[in-house]
Amino acid sequence: MKRIRYAAALLLVAASMPADGVRAQTLRQHGPHVHGIATVDVALDGPALQIAVEAPGANLVGFEHPPHDAQERARLEAVLAALRAPSGWLSPAPGADCRLLDADVQPHGYDAPPADGGDAHADIDARYDYRCATPEALAYIDIRLADRYPATRQVVVNLVLPQRQDRQVLGPGDHRVALAP
Ligand SMILES: [Zn+2]
Repeated sequence: MKRIRYAAALLLVAASMPADGVRAQTLRQHGPHVHGIATVDVALDGPALQIAVEAPGANLVGFEHPPHDAQERARLEAVLAALRAPSGWLSPAPGADCRLLDADVQPHGYDAPPADGGDAHADIDARYDYRCATPEALAYIDIRLADRYPATRQVVVNLVLPQRQDRQVLGPGDHRVALAP
């Protein structure tokens, strides 16, 4: 019981900490912060399709510090806007008729440099909730992150589907994640 409470306390601490640097690497739920690699979790449950993206800022924005000037600010805002409206790079197979219900995009590490003066890192998390009218027709999802942001060399896709769990890795030029068995 004590152990469980300790774990809960750790989670609380993790939630209240700024998500940057080494702490982010050790406390975040997903893969480590590796420049060039993005992680995409895809979960399909009935009509509900949830897609979560985690990427180092270096992949998308090109820098991992609070914007120094108007140009960097504009660059960061452009990336966040493209993530908030993902139809240009994230496409469930049209036959499944998936509608985007909600998008939540969270930049981490772009507000302030790390208080301890350590190495700065920043990343961006995005979560998308779709509702698919014909989920059985969801044969694939196209993820064009690497096409759009060439600093992304690899997209690791974790799939949790009704029938199976799987991992697919998209390299340069790949964008299609096959979901059919
Ligand atoms: Zn970094």
